Amino acid sequence: MLKISIIKCLSDNYSYLLKDENTNTVGVVDPSEFAAIDKEIKKKYRKLDFILNTHHHADHIGGNLELKEKYNSKIVCSFNDKEIIKNTDINLNDGDIFSFGKTDFRVIHIPGHTLGHVAFYSKNAKVIFSGDTLFSLGCGRIFEGSFEQMFNSIEKIKKLPSDTLIYCGHEYTEKNGEFAVRIDDQNKILKERIKNVKSNIKQGLPSIPVSLKNELDTNIFLRCENEKIKSKLQMHNASKLEVFTKLRNLKDQF
Ligand code: ZN
Ligand code: FE
Repeated sequence: MLKISIIKCLSDNYSYLLKDENTNTVGVVDPSEFAAIDKEIKKKYRKLDFILNTHHHADHIGGNLELKEKYNSKIVCSFNDKEIIKNTDINLNDGDIFSFGKTDFRVIHIPGHTLGHVAFYSKNAKVIFSGDTLFSLGCGRIFEGSFEQMFNSIEKIKKLPSDTLIYCGHEYTEKNGEFAVRIDDQNKILKERIKNVKSNIKQGLPSIPVSLKNELDTNIFLRCENEKIKSKLQMHNASKLEVFTKLRNLKDQF
């Protein structure tokens, strides 16, 4: 069994502390900073075997070196980020399996936000760490890749089992919802979800994780073929990629 603890970092980042219960293997996904993670480790496990990075941005690797030094951890990331992220130990390609104790993670290359961006997906644990590619009710900004790459990356995630739980890199859900509901303005499930998210955030609770099923119903970036969304954008004959591109551009200006 995989145990996941959510750690709030910086202003709106999430790092995730993992423990494979069968083997007492401990890891962290995207340690934004040293102190917040170290505090949790001291409280819970007093060890850290692996540091997993979805991509090279500072707010996802900020704690890497200090944690590695203190706990003698191994840094795991995409081959594409080998030269960018310092002191890495294990570099993986699309489709590779990373064995985290008895929990297997499949590496899925999802370029767009950055070129080397990967997700860590476990079929058995039914979880995906999606970094800054797929957010709850949104998707990441396109910095290094193309719209088409980002679109295809999200399409890959869409094909996973719908009961997969998504753990993303930031708490952007409320803001994403405000944008989504302007476009998908007749979506009752979305409106209900936004209510829940607002109440969670008010109580200081994360909106994460969210199931892929829920995202398929409410995340406009996963719904580019939806007739109501296309009609709202006056893009009746457009392709899914064209709709995606339009949505991403509108969101950038929101
Ligand atoms: Zn990023
Ligand atoms: Fe980020």
